[in-house]
Amino acid sequence: MSVRSYLINLKNAINQKTIKLPYTFVTGNQSADVDSVISSITYAYLTHNLKTPQQYIIPLINVPKADLKLRRDIIRVLETYHNITEDLLYFVEDFDNFISESINSKVLQKTELSLVDHNGLQGVEINKSYDEGYLKVVGIIDHHADEGKFLNASPRIIRSCGSNSSLVFQYFYNLKQNNEQFWVDNKDVIELLIAPLLIDTSNMTQKVEEPDLEVFDIYKKILSVTKSQIIASQIPTQSNTNQVDLFYKEIKKAKKDLSGFAFIDILRKDYKQFKFLKGDNIGFSSIGKPLKWVVESYTKEEILKTLSDSLKLNRIDLLVITSSYTVKDTNEYRREFCYYYEGINAVYEILDDLVETQLSLNNQVYGGDEIDPVLEYVNSASIDNVGHFKIYNQVNIHASRKQVVPIVKEALEK
Ligand code: ATP
Ligand code: MG
Repeated sequence: MSVRSYLINLKNAINQKTIKLPYTFVTGNQSADVDSVISSITYAYLTHNLKTPQQYIIPLINVPKADLKLRRDIIRVLETYHNITEDLLYFVEDFDNFISESINSKVLQKTELSLVDHNGLQGVEINKSYDEGYLKVVGIIDHHADEGKFLNASPRIIRSCGSNSSLVFQYFYNLKQNNEQFWVDNKDVIELLIAPLLIDTSNMTQKVEEPDLEVFDIYKKILSVTKSQIIASQIPTQSNTNQVDLFYKEIKKAKKDLSGFAFIDILRKDYKQFKFLKGDNIGFSSIGKPLKWVVESYTKEEILKTLSDSLKLNRIDLLVITSSYTVKDTNEYRREFCYYYEGINAVYEILDDLVETQLSLNNQVYGGDEIDPVLEYVNSASIDNVGHFKIYNQVNIHASRKQVVPIVKEALEK
């Protein structure tokens, strides 16, 4: 059964109400990036096929359905190669309906949820259901810092790794020994899993850890044995790049394609939100462009309005933007740390000082001359003069959002 067939069968079972309530879910984190989405789809599929065939797990994408179109790399992988279209997927609004259905049917057991690519609940809807007592977390496979929650989950695999998808594959691969034939027969799972691995490790050149290496070898073997049309690995093309490289380039290009997006879309595309212990609600937007690009692409009025709207729409106190980019001429990878808040807040005012050492912040912002007038406008023209926007060059390029979130959290919880 292909992954697509699984999703069709699941959809039919849901529509025909042949699944016993409450439903079972697996979800990725709120950035809903290719790692989270493919980790959850494959986790659902592999649980059904290798662990509990009687169980249908719903892979839930932890954003509104309308936001999927901002993730062009995911659409490229799912639709172009696997004909997995939006109608076969489930989103946060569907989750709300599923929970209501269980409540209305007076189901006593809690809805079961597994987490991949995060290990603490993310998203307003999921947190609400949990707080109201309708949810329990039964499994975790993740590569972020361990938040120490849900200690009885099984599996509970949390370790650092380039791509979370590698840990998902490893777990199911190791469930059954000598099961090569299963993977050969279901090579589409591998064709899906290799996409986040390549994206998260920049084609196996960054952040690669031992599980990534191990699974990559297995993927290449299976894709070559099965003569995968999508990624005919190891078959050199005229340009001397192999098919894996070409596949990587193609999905990377789709990911980088921001044509037609408003600034608000750029901020929503890879967004996570957390509530820290003292009650701060903080949003973190990762963007794959420098702030120089932002001020060249959008008017200062749009930038100010978007920053201000994003606080209101997400009901957050502070928006952090972690930008990363490669300088074309030198091929140098760089990062920036930026944040925006409104009104008076003594802690946010010195947040830059609090994280300066760990992130190695300085004022040598790329394109600073172009950015300065916009900063001046945002910091003076905002309604009632309440906006504060700060932008820094982050010399510590090893701190991606995975590290930035715990650093900001620690600073704000002191
Ligand atoms: P989260 O787990 O919260 O999503 P993250 O670790 O993915 O956080 P981001 O700030 O979004 O953090 O940055 C990740 C992106 O940066 C990845 O897409 C990765 O390809 C890219 N990246 C990381 N390090 C490098 C590097 N040294 N060179 C090139 N690209 C890199
Ligand atoms: Mg990420």
